Amino acid sequence: DAVPISVPQHSRDKLLGGLVAAGLDETSCVSRYDTVINRKGLSAQPSSYLISKLRKYEALHRECESYNTTSSHCKYLVLISYSGLGNRMLAIASAFLYALLTNRVLLLDPGPDDITHLFCDPFPHSSWFLPPHFPLHPQFHHFNHNSPRSYGNMLKQDKPLTTSQLPSFLYLHLAHDYDHQDKLFFCDEHQLFLHQVPWLLLRTDNYFVPSLFLMPSFQQELNHLFPNRETVFHFLARYLFHPTNRVWGLVVRYYQAYLANVDQRVGLQIRVFHTGTGPFQHVLDQILACVFKENLLPHLNTKQPTITSSGKPKSKAVLVTSLSSGYFEKLRDMYWEFPTTTGEVVGVFQPSHEGYQQTEKQMHNQKAWAEMYLLSLTDVLVTSAWSTFGYVAQGMGGLKPWILYKPENKTAPDPPCQRAMSMEPCFHAPPFYDCKAKRGIDTGKIVPHVRHCEDMSWGLKLV
Ligand code: GDP
Repeated sequence: DAVPISVPQHSRDKLLGGLVAAGLDETSCVSRYDTVINRKGLSAQPSSYLISKLRKYEALHRECESYNTTSSHCKYLVLISYSGLGNRMLAIASAFLYALLTNRVLLLDPGPDDITHLFCDPFPHSSWFLPPHFPLHPQFHHFNHNSPRSYGNMLKQDKPLTTSQLPSFLYLHLAHDYDHQDKLFFCDEHQLFLHQVPWLLLRTDNYFVPSLFLMPSFQQELNHLFPNRETVFHFLARYLFHPTNRVWGLVVRYYQAYLANVDQRVGLQIRVFHTGTGPFQHVLDQILACVFKENLLPHLNTKQPTITSSGKPKSKAVLVTSLSSGYFEKLRDMYWEFPTTTGEVVGVFQPSHEGYQQTEKQMHNQKAWAEMYLLSLTDVLVTSAWSTFGYVAQGMGGLKPWILYKPENKTAPDPPCQRAMSMEPCFHAPPFYDCKAKRGIDTGKIVPHVRHCEDMSWGLKLV
């Protein structure tokens, strides 16, 4: 359902330095060529090797998309729909990189909530969505950590898997509840076997890219693709995720109404994981402590309210995203009731307050996606620990956010926040295993560019 949006004719780098393919229809997916909002370009230049790899991938996808094809070199990776939207986008990016590295074609299960309403096709003249009536589709919900068709469970059986009895498909369980055998996916010797299986079905809610960087068999290729490792998700996300016109309308109208005409935009992504309806005083205290300590927002002049009428004051817009409206209301009232010590004016805005996660609803997901995108358009970003919603925003925007540490026992942590080392998302459930030595190892201490995350001590991220 294409909603028309007029495209102004100013010439800019429409193809993001070659990252986005030329020749796609501009009106069916206006966001792809990005000409409505004068947004920042990429935060760095993608390598020519990455660009040529993407063009080769697109050709392979076109050739193999119709899976009834008899071409024997077509191998597939099907990503089963799972989890909230942020998690799902990290899963898509990870699956796509794995498909690139292993010459597979990635097909996405649109899921019960049908994400075809959220994302345009990134590959020219072909679809990345699994066609309806895919024969294994009725079985998707059986694929979980108990499934006998999972690679991990097959490894537990007495009969070893051999190439002479190659299964036509295998299920890979890489979700947060996966076990030791499932995690052997990250060992090169197991990749040798998996490489021969024509169909791999994958369920994951994780950004597993950092662990791919620890696998010797992928290292050289990854170095060529991403000489600057900090940009992996940034490039993949800007290549893959283009809002449909419906979502783009939500982004553009909001941006133009509330964010376009200020000197600086500050994004504040508030995600509270403990139960109970907010707003919570300790969360508000933490947010204020962070933005004042790090000089992200001006202090209030509560003593001598002054009125300056000369000239146009500098302006800031704060874009708050949260399931609750409480934090936004407090912040907005603060900057209405008192002047700032700097004389700046601060407007505070929040597009939605959905109350709770409703992943099954289309409009809910469209708003969530639009809000992640809007956050990515800010100049300064504050995010919440552990939240993949925030990771997507920072990665799309090429921003190193200030991360609000996760509160413990309902108290604001001190320090309240920390600047991220890189714009990369955190892999929340990495393996801690040395495949060669067959024993445990701290995978955050093997190479300098794969480290433990700021917001989760056992997580891994690229820096
Ligand atoms: P995570 O749980 O923070 O890692 O992020 P996910 O995106 O995976 O799951 C949270 C889901 O809750 C989102 O996809 C939305 O459906 C909803 N949600 C959470 N925070 C917000 C918000 O600030 N705005 C909107 N519109 N939805 C949100």
